[in-house]
Amino acid sequence: MKKVFDPRRLDVRALARAGGELAGQWPLAGFERLCASLRAGDDGAVPGQVTWSARGAEVPVRGGASQTWLHLQARAPLPLACQRCLGPMIEQAQIARSYQFVADEAAAQALDGEVEHEVLVLERELDLHALAEDELLLDLPLVPRHAACPQPLPGADDAAAAAAVPESPFAALAALRNKTR
Ligand SMILES: [Zn+2]
Repeated sequence: MKKVFDPRRLDVRALARAGGELAGQWPLAGFERLCASLRAGDDGAVPGQVTWSARGAEVPVRGGASQTWLHLQARAPLPLACQRCLGPMIEQAQIARSYQFVADEAAAQALDGEVEHEVLVLERELDLHALAEDELLLDLPLVPRHAACPQPLPGADDAAAAAAVPESPFAALAALRNKTR
């Protein structure tokens, strides 16, 4: 019989042992902390969906206990307000993270600083929704801006306006994306 996994109360170890995979969509409006930074539509609700998938994996270790891993991917069109023209814009968020789960805080601290990937303490139930929200929050652009604002700013010198706001890697990426279209 196939075990049914609940992404809001996920048994990470069991998912890893099964080599299981989960996927789905969550409405952006359900991410309360994230929505505080997003631009709501005319009806007051934040539109859009987070499309996500998660895969558990058990990695054998020679002469030791196997490792428990979770790979999380999520993407979402985040409605934001451009900080240059204050108009609406969409930031295509895309995250892909791998987490190693360890037994306790001491094991996590021992690994911290030695490895590049994320280390989390294994709990009985993991809220994947909250984890995805944490990652999307970390991924938010500090200063969301259109690559090129649709409306010229009244009376503002564009170069001066651009210089006043530090360049974010997202703006550069967005500019690249727009060029290839
Ligand atoms: Zn703009």
